[in-house]
Amino acid sequence: MSDFLVDLGQNATARQIVRTLGLPIPMPQKLRRAKGPWEARPLQDQDVLVSASHGGELQDAIATALASAGANPWIVGEPAEAAAYVGPGEAYGRPPTTLARGEVSDDVSPHAILFDATDMRTPAELRALYDLFHGWLPRLRRCGRVLILGRPPVGARTPAAAAAAAALSGFARSVAKEVGAKGATAQAIYVERGADDRLAPLLTFLLSERSAFISGQIFHVGRAVKVTDAPKPVLPLEGKVALVTGAARGIGKATARLLAAEGAHVVVLDRPEDDGPASQTAREIGGSVLLVDVSAEDAPETIASALAESHGGVDIVVHNAGVTRDKTLAKMSPQQWDLTVGVNLSAVVAMTEALLDGPFRDGGRIVCLSSIAGIAGNFGQTNYAASKAGIIGYVEALAPSVAKRGITVNAIAPGFIETRLTDAIPPINREVIRRMSNLSQGGLPQDIAEVVTFLASPGSVGVTGSVIRVCGGNYVGA
Ligand code: NAD
Repeated sequence: MSDFLVDLGQNATARQIVRTLGLPIPMPQKLRRAKGPWEARPLQDQDVLVSASHGGELQDAIATALASAGANPWIVGEPAEAAAYVGPGEAYGRPPTTLARGEVSDDVSPHAILFDATDMRTPAELRALYDLFHGWLPRLRRCGRVLILGRPPVGARTPAAAAAAAALSGFARSVAKEVGAKGATAQAIYVERGADDRLAPLLTFLLSERSAFISGQIFHVGRAVKVTDAPKPVLPLEGKVALVTGAARGIGKATARLLAAEGAHVVVLDRPEDDGPASQTAREIGGSVLLVDVSAEDAPETIASALAESHGGVDIVVHNAGVTRDKTLAKMSPQQWDLTVGVNLSAVVAMTEALLDGPFRDGGRIVCLSSIAGIAGNFGQTNYAASKAGIIGYVEALAPSVAKRGITVNAIAPGFIETRLTDAIPPINREVIRRMSNLSQGGLPQDIAEVVTFLASPGSVGVTGSVIRVCGGNYVGA
Protein backbone atom coordinates (compact mmCIF):
# COMPACT_ATOMS: atom_id res chain seq x y z
CA MET A 1 0.00 0.00 0.00
CA SER A 2 3.02 2.32 -0.12
CA ASP A 3 2.97 4.95 -2.87
CA PHE A 4 6.32 4.92 -4.68
CA LEU A 5 5.94 8.41 -6.19
CA VAL A 6 4.93 10.05 -2.90
CA ASP A 7 8.01 8.46 -1.28
CA LEU A 8 10.27 9.53 -4.17
CA GLY A 9 8.81 13.06 -4.07
CA GLN A 10 10.19 13.36 -0.52
CA ASN A 11 13.68 13.28 -2.01
CA ALA A 12 14.76 16.81 -3.02
CA THR A 13 17.33 15.55 -5.57
CA ALA A 14 14.77 13.35 -7.31
CA ARG A 15 12.32 16.29 -7.48
CA GLN A 16 15.04 18.48 -8.98
CA ILE A 17 16.01 15.85 -11.61
CA VAL A 18 12.39 15.43 -12.72
CA ARG A 19 11.97 19.22 -12.92
CA THR A 20 15.26 19.80 -14.81
CA LEU A 21 14.58 17.07 -17.35
CA GLY A 22 10.97 18.22 -17.71
CA LEU A 23 9.74 14.64 -17.26
CA PRO A 24 5.95 14.23 -17.28
CA ILE A 25 6.02 12.38 -13.96
CA PRO A 26 3.77 13.73 -11.20
CA MET A 27 5.80 14.12 -8.01
CA PRO A 28 3.00 14.21 -5.47
CA GLN A 29 3.51 16.28 -2.37
CA LYS A 30 3.36 14.18 0.80
CA LEU A 31 0.33 15.50 2.64
CA ARG A 32 0.61 16.84 6.17
CA ARG A 33 -1.80 14.90 8.35
CA ALA A 34 -2.80 15.43 11.96
CA LYS A 35 -1.25 13.19 14.59
CA GLY A 36 -3.09 12.57 17.82
CA PRO A 37 -6.44 13.80 19.12
CA TRP A 38 -8.10 17.21 18.65
CA GLU A 39 -6.20 20.12 20.18
CA ALA A 40 -7.42 23.42 21.61
CA ARG A 41 -5.28 25.41 19.10
CA PRO A 42 -5.18 23.41 15.85
CA LEU A 43 -3.91 26.45 13.87
CA GLN A 44 -1.29 27.55 16.41
CA ASP A 45 0.94 30.30 14.92
CA GLN A 46 -0.31 29.75 11.37
CA ASP A 47 -0.50 32.90 9.22
CA VAL A 48 -3.96 33.23 7.63
CA LEU A 49 -4.63 35.92 5.05
CA VAL A 50 -8.22 37.23 4.95
CA SER A 51 -9.92 39.61 2.56
CA ALA A 52 -13.51 40.53 1.80
CA SER A 53 -15.59 42.20 -0.85
CA HIS A 54 -17.03 45.40 0.72
CA GLY A 55 -17.05 44.53 4.42
CA GLY A 56 -17.92 40.83 4.29
CA GLU A 57 -20.78 39.59 6.47
CA LEU A 58 -18.77 36.77 8.06
CA GLN A 59 -15.89 38.81 9.43
CA ASP A 60 -16.93 38.44 13.09
CA ALA A 61 -17.36 34.65 12.74
CA ILE A 62 -14.03 34.28 10.93
CA ALA A 63 -12.20 36.53 13.42
CA THR A 64 -13.38 34.51 16.43
CA ALA A 65 -12.69 31.16 14.75
CA LEU A 66 -9.13 32.12 13.78
CA ALA A 67 -8.22 33.71 17.10
CA SER A 68 -9.56 30.82 19.20
CA ALA A 69 -7.72 28.30 16.99
CA GLY A 70 -4.42 30.16 17.53
CA ALA A 71 -3.95 31.60 13.99
CA ASN A 72 -2.37 34.98 13.15
CA PRO A 73 -4.77 37.02 10.97
CA TRP A 74 -3.38 39.15 8.12
CA ILE A 75 -6.10 41.41 6.76
CA VAL A 76 -5.83 42.60 3.16
CA GLY A 77 -7.81 45.87 2.92
CA GLU A 78 -8.32 49.18 4.68
CA PRO A 79 -7.32 49.38 8.37
CA ALA A 80 -11.05 49.70 9.22
CA GLU A 81 -11.62 46.23 7.75
CA ALA A 82 -9.43 44.74 10.49
CA ALA A 83 -11.80 46.08 13.17
CA ALA A 84 -13.58 42.72 13.64
CA TYR A 85 -10.22 41.08 14.41
CA VAL A 86 -9.09 43.47 17.15
CA GLY A 87 -11.36 42.22 19.99
CA PRO A 88 -10.81 38.46 19.46
CA GLY A 89 -7.13 39.20 18.72
CA GLU A 90 -6.72 40.84 22.14
CA ALA A 91 -8.57 38.03 23.91
CA TYR A 92 -6.31 35.35 22.40
CA GLY A 93 -3.12 37.39 21.89
CA ARG A 94 -3.50 37.34 18.09
CA PRO A 95 -3.68 40.99 16.91
CA PRO A 96 -4.38 41.51 13.21
CA THR A 97 -1.82 42.93 10.77
CA THR A 98 -3.20 44.97 7.89
CA LEU A 99 -1.82 44.87 4.34
CA ALA A 100 -2.96 47.23 1.59
CA ARG A 101 -4.88 45.77 -1.34
CA GLY A 102 -2.48 45.05 -4.19
CA GLU A 103 0.49 44.79 -1.81
CA VAL A 104 2.13 41.35 -1.71
CA SER A 105 4.61 41.05 1.10
CA ASP A 106 7.63 38.77 0.72
CA ASP A 107 7.64 38.43 4.51
CA VAL A 108 4.46 36.35 4.56
CA SER A 109 3.90 32.86 3.15
CA PRO A 110 0.38 32.21 4.34
CA HIS A 111 -0.82 28.81 5.46
CA ALA A 112 -4.26 29.79 4.25
CA ILE A 113 -6.04 32.45 2.20
CA LEU A 114 -9.71 33.20 2.93
CA PHE A 115 -12.02 35.36 0.88
CA ASP A 116 -15.38 36.47 2.28
CA ALA A 117 -17.65 37.12 -0.69
CA THR A 118 -20.92 37.07 1.26
CA ASP A 119 -21.97 40.54 0.19
CA MET A 120 -20.99 40.29 -3.45
CA ARG A 121 -23.83 41.69 -5.55
CA THR A 122 -22.72 41.54 -9.19
CA PRO A 123 -20.47 39.45 -11.45
CA ALA A 124 -18.23 42.52 -11.96
CA GLU A 125 -17.31 42.33 -8.28
CA LEU A 126 -15.77 38.90 -8.85
CA ARG A 127 -12.73 40.86 -10.03
CA ALA A 128 -11.80 41.14 -6.32
CA LEU A 129 -10.98 37.39 -6.40
CA TYR A 130 -8.52 37.91 -9.24
CA ASP A 131 -7.00 40.95 -7.53
CA LEU A 132 -6.30 39.05 -4.30
CA PHE A 133 -5.28 35.63 -5.58
CA HIS A 134 -3.25 36.71 -8.61
CA GLY A 135 -0.49 38.01 -6.35
CA TRP A 136 -0.97 35.89 -3.26
CA LEU A 137 -1.68 32.37 -4.54
CA PRO A 138 1.98 31.73 -5.53
CA ARG A 139 2.92 32.56 -1.91
CA LEU A 140 0.60 29.91 -0.42
CA ARG A 141 2.58 27.35 1.61
CA ARG A 142 2.85 23.67 0.75
CA CYS A 143 -0.19 21.78 2.09
CA GLY A 144 -1.89 25.18 2.50
CA ARG A 145 -5.60 25.97 2.30
CA VAL A 146 -7.83 28.31 0.27
CA LEU A 147 -11.41 28.92 1.41
CA ILE A 148 -13.97 31.00 -0.48
CA LEU A 149 -17.04 31.94 1.54
CA GLY A 150 -20.38 33.12 0.18
CA ARG A 151 -24.14 33.04 0.62
CA PRO A 152 -26.03 30.25 -1.20
CA PRO A 153 -27.00 31.23 -4.77
CA VAL A 154 -30.51 29.86 -4.21
CA GLY A 155 -32.37 32.56 -2.33
CA ALA A 156 -29.96 35.34 -3.38
CA ARG A 157 -31.52 38.82 -3.39
CA THR A 158 -31.21 39.25 -7.19
CA PRO A 159 -30.37 36.93 -10.12
CA ALA A 160 -27.13 38.91 -10.58
CA ALA A 161 -26.17 38.22 -6.96
CA ALA A 162 -26.99 34.52 -7.52
CA ALA A 163 -24.69 34.48 -10.55
CA ALA A 164 -21.85 36.01 -8.55
CA ALA A 165 -22.44 33.57 -5.67
CA ALA A 166 -22.52 30.53 -7.98
CA ALA A 167 -19.31 31.69 -9.66
CA LEU A 168 -17.47 31.17 -6.37
CA SER A 169 -17.80 27.38 -6.67
CA GLY A 170 -16.18 27.27 -10.12
CA PHE A 171 -13.40 29.52 -8.90
CA ALA A 172 -12.71 27.38 -5.81
CA ARG A 173 -12.75 24.13 -7.79
CA SER A 174 -10.28 25.54 -10.32
CA VAL A 175 -7.97 26.95 -7.67
CA ALA A 176 -7.98 23.45 -6.11
CA LYS A 177 -6.62 22.08 -9.38
CA GLU A 178 -3.92 24.78 -9.56
CA VAL A 179 -2.62 24.29 -6.01
CA GLY A 180 -2.94 20.49 -5.86
CA ALA A 181 0.67 19.86 -6.86
CA LYS A 182 1.71 21.67 -3.67
CA GLY A 183 -0.46 19.33 -1.59
CA ALA A 184 -2.69 22.34 -0.97
CA THR A 185 -6.50 22.37 -1.21
CA ALA A 186 -9.29 24.84 -1.94
CA GLN A 187 -13.01 24.70 -1.14
CA ALA A 188 -16.06 26.95 -1.18
CA ILE A 189 -18.42 27.30 1.79
CA TYR A 190 -21.93 28.69 1.41
CA VAL A 191 -23.32 29.93 4.71
CA GLU A 192 -27.07 30.43 4.97
CA ARG A 193 -28.17 33.76 6.52
CA GLY A 194 -28.77 33.16 10.22
CA ALA A 195 -26.27 30.30 10.39
CA ASP A 196 -23.10 32.40 10.80
CA ASP A 197 -22.60 31.16 14.37
CA ARG A 198 -22.39 27.57 13.04
CA LEU A 199 -19.47 28.26 10.69
CA ALA A 200 -16.46 28.21 13.06
CA PRO A 201 -16.07 24.43 13.62
CA LEU A 202 -16.24 23.69 9.86
CA LEU A 203 -13.85 26.54 9.10
CA THR A 204 -11.32 25.31 11.65
CA PHE A 205 -11.63 21.72 10.42
CA LEU A 206 -11.06 22.70 6.78
CA LEU A 207 -8.05 24.87 7.67
CA SER A 208 -6.51 22.09 9.78
CA GLU A 209 -4.39 19.08 8.83
CA ARG A 210 -7.47 16.87 9.40
CA SER A 211 -8.93 17.80 6.02
CA ALA A 212 -5.78 16.82 4.06
CA PHE A 213 -7.53 14.76 1.33
CA ILE A 214 -10.58 17.02 0.74
CA SER A 215 -10.04 19.12 -2.37
CA GLY A 216 -12.30 21.18 -4.63
CA GLN A 217 -15.48 20.64 -2.61
CA ILE A 218 -18.51 22.80 -1.92
CA PHE A 219 -19.86 22.94 1.63
CA HIS A 220 -23.18 24.25 2.95
CA VAL A 221 -23.79 25.54 6.46
CA GLY A 222 -27.45 25.78 7.40
CA ARG A 223 -29.64 26.40 10.43
CA ALA A 224 -32.24 23.64 10.01
CA VAL A 225 -30.95 21.31 12.73
CA LYS A 226 -31.78 22.05 16.35
CA VAL A 227 -28.67 22.64 18.49
CA THR A 228 -28.48 20.22 21.42
CA ASP A 229 -24.78 20.36 22.45
CA ALA A 230 -22.25 23.21 22.33
CA PRO A 231 -19.19 22.65 20.09
CA LYS A 232 -16.17 21.28 21.96
CA PRO A 233 -12.62 21.88 20.70
CA VAL A 234 -11.14 18.92 22.60
CA LEU A 235 -12.61 15.47 23.36
CA PRO A 236 -15.74 16.41 21.38
CA LEU A 237 -17.28 12.94 21.70
CA GLU A 238 -16.84 12.42 25.42
CA GLY A 239 -19.77 10.48 26.87
CA LYS A 240 -21.15 9.47 23.45
CA VAL A 241 -21.86 5.93 22.24
CA ALA A 242 -20.89 5.26 18.61
CA LEU A 243 -21.69 2.28 16.37
CA VAL A 244 -19.34 1.66 13.43
CA THR A 245 -20.31 -1.12 11.01
CA GLY A 246 -17.57 -2.99 9.13
CA ALA A 247 -15.03 -1.83 11.73
CA ALA A 248 -12.76 -4.90 11.70
CA ARG A 249 -10.46 -3.35 9.11
CA GLY A 250 -9.90 -0.56 6.57
CA ILE A 251 -11.83 2.68 6.84
CA GLY A 252 -14.13 1.33 9.57
CA LYS A 253 -11.21 0.40 11.81
CA ALA A 254 -9.54 3.80 11.35
CA THR A 255 -12.89 5.47 12.13
CA ALA A 256 -13.43 3.41 15.28
CA ARG A 257 -9.95 4.42 16.46
CA LEU A 258 -10.46 8.16 15.93
CA LEU A 259 -13.96 8.21 17.44
CA ALA A 260 -12.58 6.46 20.53
CA ALA A 261 -9.61 8.87 20.68
CA GLU A 262 -12.14 11.73 20.89
CA GLY A 263 -13.89 10.14 23.87
CA ALA A 264 -16.65 7.96 22.38
CA HIS A 265 -17.38 4.42 23.52
CA VAL A 266 -17.29 2.59 20.19
CA VAL A 267 -19.28 -0.53 19.35
CA VAL A 268 -17.24 -2.35 16.69
CA LEU A 269 -19.63 -4.23 14.42
CA ASP A 270 -18.57 -6.77 11.80
CA ARG A 271 -19.63 -10.15 10.42
CA PRO A 272 -19.52 -13.19 12.74
CA GLU A 273 -16.66 -14.70 10.66
CA ASP A 274 -14.58 -11.55 11.39
CA ASP A 275 -14.66 -12.13 15.14
CA GLY A 276 -10.81 -12.12 15.36
CA PRO A 277 -10.00 -8.72 13.83
CA ALA A 278 -13.21 -7.11 15.16
CA SER A 279 -12.45 -8.16 18.75
CA GLN A 280 -8.85 -7.02 18.39
CA THR A 281 -9.96 -3.55 17.25
CA ALA A 282 -12.44 -3.32 20.12
CA ARG A 283 -9.74 -4.34 22.63
CA GLU A 284 -7.26 -1.78 21.26
CA ILE A 285 -9.69 1.12 21.73
CA GLY A 286 -11.51 -0.01 24.87
CA GLY A 287 -14.75 -0.53 22.91
CA SER A 288 -17.28 -3.36 22.59
CA VAL A 289 -17.77 -5.86 19.80
CA LEU A 290 -21.02 -6.80 18.06
CA LEU A 291 -20.93 -9.64 15.52
CA VAL A 292 -23.84 -9.34 13.09
CA ASP A 293 -24.26 -9.66 9.33
CA VAL A 294 -25.96 -6.32 8.60
CA SER A 295 -27.86 -7.82 5.67
CA ALA A 296 -29.53 -10.55 7.78
CA GLU A 297 -33.28 -10.10 8.08
CA ASP A 298 -33.22 -9.81 11.86
CA ALA A 299 -30.11 -7.55 11.95
CA PRO A 300 -31.95 -4.24 12.58
CA GLU A 301 -33.80 -5.70 15.57
CA THR A 302 -30.69 -7.47 16.94
CA ILE A 303 -28.55 -4.32 16.68
CA ALA A 304 -31.22 -2.01 18.14
CA SER A 305 -31.75 -4.36 21.13
CA ALA A 306 -28.01 -4.77 21.75
CA LEU A 307 -27.46 -0.99 21.78
CA ALA A 308 -30.44 -0.37 24.06
CA GLU A 309 -29.62 -3.15 26.53
CA SER A 310 -25.83 -2.94 26.74
CA HIS A 311 -25.28 0.80 26.21
CA GLY A 312 -28.57 2.49 27.06
CA GLY A 313 -28.78 4.00 23.54
CA VAL A 314 -26.59 5.28 20.72
CA ASP A 315 -25.55 8.80 19.61
CA ILE A 316 -23.42 8.21 16.51
CA VAL A 317 -24.00 5.64 13.75
CA VAL A 318 -21.47 5.16 10.97
CA HIS A 319 -22.78 2.95 8.15
CA ASN A 320 -19.41 1.86 6.79
CA ALA A 321 -19.80 -1.89 6.04
CA GLY A 322 -19.65 -2.33 2.28
CA VAL A 323 -18.84 -4.86 -0.41
CA THR A 324 -18.03 -4.86 -4.11
CA ARG A 325 -18.94 -7.64 -6.56
CA ASP A 326 -17.70 -6.15 -9.84
CA LYS A 327 -18.89 -7.61 -13.15
CA THR A 328 -20.32 -6.11 -16.31
CA LEU A 329 -24.08 -6.35 -16.18
CA ALA A 330 -24.26 -9.18 -18.72
CA LYS A 331 -21.90 -11.32 -16.63
CA MET A 332 -23.25 -10.39 -13.19
CA SER A 333 -25.11 -13.10 -11.26
CA PRO A 334 -28.33 -12.22 -9.39
CA GLN A 335 -26.50 -13.12 -6.16
CA GLN A 336 -23.80 -10.53 -6.91
CA TRP A 337 -26.46 -7.89 -7.47
CA ASP A 338 -28.45 -8.84 -4.37
CA LEU A 339 -25.46 -9.03 -2.04
CA THR A 340 -24.06 -5.62 -3.06
CA VAL A 341 -27.36 -3.74 -2.95
CA GLY A 342 -28.40 -5.66 0.17
CA VAL A 343 -25.31 -4.84 2.27
CA ASN A 344 -24.57 -1.36 0.94
CA LEU A 345 -28.08 0.09 0.77
CA SER A 346 -31.03 -2.00 1.97
CA ALA A 347 -29.29 -2.79 5.28
CA VAL A 348 -28.51 0.91 5.86
CA VAL A 349 -32.15 1.90 5.35
CA ALA A 350 -33.56 -0.92 7.49
CA MET A 351 -31.07 -0.41 10.31
CA THR A 352 -31.50 3.37 10.40
CA GLU A 353 -35.28 3.04 10.63
CA ALA A 354 -35.03 0.56 13.51
CA LEU A 355 -32.51 2.75 15.36
CA LEU A 356 -34.46 6.01 14.89
CA ASP A 357 -37.58 4.30 16.25
CA GLY A 358 -35.55 2.81 19.10
CA PRO A 359 -32.28 3.59 20.87
CA PHE A 360 -31.02 6.53 18.71
CA ARG A 361 -30.78 9.60 20.91
CA ASP A 362 -31.78 13.16 19.95
CA GLY A 363 -28.79 15.30 18.98
CA GLY A 364 -27.25 12.25 17.30
CA ARG A 365 -25.21 11.95 14.12
CA ILE A 366 -25.60 9.53 11.19
CA VAL A 367 -22.79 9.18 8.66
CA CYS A 368 -23.12 6.89 5.62
CA LEU A 369 -20.30 5.77 3.35
CA SER A 370 -21.14 6.40 -0.28
CA SER A 371 -18.52 6.49 -3.06
CA ILE A 372 -17.52 8.65 -6.02
CA ALA A 373 -18.74 5.64 -8.06
CA GLY A 374 -22.21 6.60 -6.79
CA ILE A 375 -21.74 10.07 -8.31
CA ALA A 376 -20.07 9.25 -11.63
CA GLY A 377 -20.86 5.55 -12.17
CA ASN A 378 -18.12 3.07 -12.96
CA PHE A 379 -17.51 0.32 -15.53
CA GLY A 380 -18.40 -3.09 -14.08
CA GLN A 381 -20.00 -1.56 -10.97
CA THR A 382 -23.69 -1.14 -11.82
CA ASN A 383 -24.65 -2.85 -8.56
CA TYR A 384 -22.14 -0.94 -6.42
CA ALA A 385 -22.77 2.47 -8.04
CA ALA A 386 -26.55 1.98 -7.72
CA SER A 387 -26.17 1.20 -4.02
CA LYS A 388 -23.87 4.17 -3.38
CA ALA A 389 -26.07 6.61 -5.37
CA GLY A 390 -29.01 5.29 -3.34
CA ILE A 391 -27.16 6.29 -0.16
CA ILE A 392 -26.96 9.88 -1.43
CA GLY A 393 -30.70 9.98 -2.12
CA TYR A 394 -31.42 8.49 1.30
CA VAL A 395 -29.29 10.99 3.18
CA GLU A 396 -30.80 13.95 1.33
CA ALA A 397 -34.36 12.75 2.01
CA LEU A 398 -33.82 11.75 5.64
CA ALA A 399 -31.97 14.86 6.83
CA PRO A 400 -34.93 17.31 6.93
CA SER A 401 -37.20 14.81 8.66
CA VAL A 402 -34.88 14.36 11.68
CA ALA A 403 -33.59 17.95 11.94
CA LYS A 404 -36.10 18.84 14.69
CA ARG A 405 -34.61 16.07 16.83
CA GLY A 406 -31.19 17.73 16.50
CA ILE A 407 -29.96 14.85 14.32
CA THR A 408 -27.72 15.36 11.27
CA VAL A 409 -27.39 12.84 8.43
CA ASN A 410 -24.54 13.06 5.91
CA ALA A 411 -22.77 10.94 3.33
CA ILE A 412 -19.07 10.72 2.61
CA ALA A 413 -18.03 9.76 -0.90
CA PRO A 414 -14.43 8.51 -0.76
CA GLY A 415 -12.30 8.45 -3.87
CA PHE A 416 -9.34 6.11 -4.08
CA ILE A 417 -8.41 5.11 -0.52
CA GLU A 418 -5.57 2.67 0.14
CA THR A 419 -7.36 -0.35 1.70
CA ARG A 420 -8.00 -4.06 1.05
CA LEU A 421 -10.85 -3.01 -1.26
CA THR A 422 -8.53 -1.01 -3.55
CA ASP A 423 -5.64 -3.52 -3.17
CA ALA A 424 -7.85 -5.82 -5.25
CA ILE A 425 -7.54 -3.46 -8.27
CA PRO A 426 -4.89 -4.57 -10.83
CA PRO A 427 -1.56 -2.68 -10.20
CA ILE A 428 -1.52 -0.71 -13.49
CA ASN A 429 -5.12 0.51 -13.05
CA ARG A 430 -4.37 1.32 -9.42
CA GLU A 431 -1.41 3.48 -10.42
CA VAL A 432 -3.49 5.39 -12.99
CA ILE A 433 -6.41 5.97 -10.58
CA ARG A 434 -4.06 7.22 -7.85
CA ARG A 435 -2.79 10.00 -10.12
CA MET A 436 -6.24 11.08 -11.37
CA SER A 437 -6.83 13.76 -8.79
CA ASN A 438 -5.75 17.27 -7.85
CA LEU A 439 -3.37 15.82 -5.27
CA SER A 440 -2.03 13.03 -7.58
CA GLN A 441 -2.25 10.37 -4.90
CA GLY A 442 -4.63 8.06 -3.06
CA GLY A 443 -5.99 8.80 0.38
CA LEU A 444 -5.56 6.87 3.61
CA PRO A 445 -8.30 5.39 5.82
CA GLN A 446 -7.39 8.10 8.36
CA ASP A 447 -8.53 10.78 5.87
CA ILE A 448 -12.08 9.40 5.87
CA ALA A 449 -12.02 8.77 9.61
CA GLU A 450 -11.15 12.44 10.24
CA VAL A 451 -14.19 13.61 8.27
CA VAL A 452 -16.48 11.10 10.00
CA THR A 453 -15.19 12.33 13.36
CA PHE A 454 -15.89 15.95 12.43
CA LEU A 455 -19.40 15.04 11.23
CA ALA A 456 -19.95 13.10 14.48
CA SER A 457 -19.03 16.10 16.63
CA PRO A 458 -21.48 18.64 18.11
CA GLY A 459 -19.85 21.47 16.12
CA SER A 460 -20.96 19.99 12.78
CA VAL A 461 -24.61 20.88 13.46
CA GLY A 462 -24.72 23.24 10.44
CA VAL A 463 -23.90 20.44 8.01
CA THR A 464 -26.70 18.03 7.11
CA GLY A 465 -28.05 16.28 4.03
CA SER A 466 -24.63 16.79 2.43
CA VAL A 467 -22.41 14.55 0.35
CA ILE A 468 -18.79 15.26 1.13
CA ARG A 469 -16.34 13.91 -1.41
CA VAL A 470 -13.05 12.91 0.20
CA CYS A 471 -11.16 12.09 -2.94
CA GLY A 472 -8.27 14.51 -3.35
CA GLY A 473 -10.35 16.23 -6.03
CA ASN A 474 -10.71 13.09 -8.15
CA TYR A 475 -11.54 13.68 -11.81
CA VAL A 476 -14.80 11.74 -11.52
CA GLY A 477 -16.22 12.54 -14.94
CA ALA A 478 -19.56 13.67 -13.59
P1 NAD B 1 -12.91 -3.18 3.56
O1 NAD B 1 -13.28 -4.33 2.69
O2 NAD B 1 -11.48 -3.01 3.95
O3 NAD B 1 -13.80 -3.22 4.89
C1 NAD B 1 -15.20 -3.40 4.85
C2 NAD B 1 -15.67 -4.03 6.14
O4 NAD B 1 -17.08 -4.28 6.05
C3 NAD B 1 -15.00 -5.40 6.38
O5 NAD B 1 -14.48 -5.48 7.68
C4 NAD B 1 -16.15 -6.39 6.16
O6 NAD B 1 -16.03 -7.57 6.94
C5 NAD B 1 -17.36 -5.55 6.60
N1 NAD B 1 -18.59 -6.12 6.05
C6 NAD B 1 -18.84 -6.49 4.77
N2 NAD B 1 -20.06 -7.04 4.68
C7 NAD B 1 -20.61 -7.00 5.90
C8 NAD B 1 -21.86 -7.42 6.43
N3 NAD B 1 -22.77 -8.02 5.66
N4 NAD B 1 -22.10 -7.23 7.76
C9 NAD B 1 -21.17 -6.64 8.55
N5 NAD B 1 -19.96 -6.23 8.11
C10 NAD B 1 -19.69 -6.40 6.79
O7 NAD B 1 -13.46 -1.86 2.82
P2 NAD B 1 -13.06 -0.31 2.98
O8 NAD B 1 -12.21 0.05 1.84
O9 NAD B 1 -12.58 -0.03 4.36
O10 NAD B 1 -14.47 0.38 2.71
C11 NAD B 1 -15.33 0.86 3.75
C12 NAD B 1 -16.51 1.60 3.12
O11 NAD B 1 -16.02 2.68 2.30
C13 NAD B 1 -17.36 0.74 2.18
O12 NAD B 1 -18.71 1.09 2.34
C14 NAD B 1 -16.88 1.12 0.81
O13 NAD B 1 -17.83 0.88 -0.19
C15 NAD B 1 -16.57 2.59 1.00
N6 NAD B 1 -15.59 3.09 0.01
C16 NAD B 1 -14.28 2.70 0.01
C17 NAD B 1 -13.41 3.19 -0.95
C18 NAD B 1 -11.95 2.83 -0.99
O14 NAD B 1 -11.23 3.36 -1.85
N7 NAD B 1 -11.44 1.98 -0.12
C19 NAD B 1 -13.87 4.08 -1.92
C20 NAD B 1 -15.21 4.45 -1.91
C21 NAD B 1 -16.06 3.96 -0.94
